[in-house]
Amino acid sequence: MIPKYRVRCVGGGEIVEDLSTLSCPHRHNSLLRAEYCSRRLHLAPYEGMYRYLSWLPVTSPLLPAGGPVSFDGGPLARELGLSHLQVSFSGYYPERGAHLTSGSFKELEASPTMQRQTELGGKILVIASAGNTGRAFAEISARCTRPVVIVVPEQAVSRLWTTTPAENVFLVAVRGDYTDAISVSNTLAAVPGCVPEGGAKNIARRDGMGTVMLDAAVTVGRIPDQYFQAVGSGTGAIAAWEAALRLIGDGRYGTRLPRLHLAQNEPFTPMVSAWQEHRREIVPEKDMPDAAERVKGVMADVLTNRTPPYGILGGLFDALTATDGTMYSVSNAAGADAMQLVQDTLDIDLDPAAAVATAALVQAIEKHMVKPDDHILLNLTGGGYERIREDFTLNPLAPAITIGSDEPRDALVGHLREWIVHHGRTPDHR
Ligand SMILES: *Cc1c(COP(=O)(O)O)cnc(C)c1O
Repeated sequence: MIPKYRVRCVGGGEIVEDLSTLSCPHRHNSLLRAEYCSRRLHLAPYEGMYRYLSWLPVTSPLLPAGGPVSFDGGPLARELGLSHLQVSFSGYYPERGAHLTSGSFKELEASPTMQRQTELGGKILVIASAGNTGRAFAEISARCTRPVVIVVPEQAVSRLWTTTPAENVFLVAVRGDYTDAISVSNTLAAVPGCVPEGGAKNIARRDGMGTVMLDAAVTVGRIPDQYFQAVGSGTGAIAAWEAALRLIGDGRYGTRLPRLHLAQNEPFTPMVSAWQEHRREIVPEKDMPDAAERVKGVMADVLTNRTPPYGILGGLFDALTATDGTMYSVSNAAGADAMQLVQDTLDIDLDPAAAVATAALVQAIEKHMVKPDDHILLNLTGGGYERIREDFTLNPLAPAITIGSDEPRDALVGHLREWIVHHGRTPDHR
């Protein structure tokens, strides 16, 4: 059988044989990238994101699955004076065909990541999250009955719920912040039978998010000129760039990369600050002074990643460079206005991060960074939470264990080992 894809190190250019690795075996500080044997995007007969199965690093779809939906900006476009505004929405709005029941585009990452893990041998993924990512993985775990370990800061526990009861989630709450949660997740990922999920380094995560660009281009028959998104890690924007490269390779969707217009939320804007000077390295003292304090001041805390894949080869700096990209700093007030604008024109209650992206578009129009007749894609990365609450009974997730960040972890590890015995093997998927 001809393999569906190969993995290549972006920095060194060499083929990487071990499909399950997250990093370059030759130690290039680089992302790995999937290279699909099919240069043409063949549409598969599935609802949701697995319509784009041919450019996802999995053999079979994980169904049922929602996907991104894209539609004409209509009243929002008229309000903004734009003639070709296309909106991609990743959230919940059944009348528009949007069925991501965890409410954000993190579900586009979670689904193929869990499927690929099963196909590669079925070790259990360990994820550290501050909110939306953990909820997305919990939702897929619940829907598809696959085990997953999720580690979150204690304050984030209330954001974790699923629309189907979650019986295969091992949830750990850490008394501390996201950085402490990452530390605990590293301990757990070393337990036999478990693996770290990998974040931006995981090709399934990026190519899952890349379906936003694919879906938008297939819907209107071309790659957009301009792409707007709010970024925390930048993974979604790297994915959009990579998807556009593949679409150019296909040949039917145009020959030019979209320009990336990416937004962060004041007062925490490290990548805006570094990109202003076209610097590959984020310098914490300069780009994110008083980080802990500033993180508390944003409306969209999913945008507050302190160690984004920005400088790494194939990462966000390279994506911005390749696309002649721009970054925007958005205040909470501008974000709130944009949120209201989308509520009034498109009837969507946005995730605050998606409101930040919309505010960046407003700013770009004011500064003449885009032309009124450009083909613009606005990626609304989350929303529809009100409708989710109306249509589903939400099942809150309870931690199996709550642990202090400095506490010994032996008991926790023992508890996880025990849990794996009961949940680690799901015979229906082997
Ligand atoms: C995580 C998230 C983002 C930012 O995505 P990155 O890939 O981390 O840059 C934007 N919007 C929403 C709704 C998110 O959950």
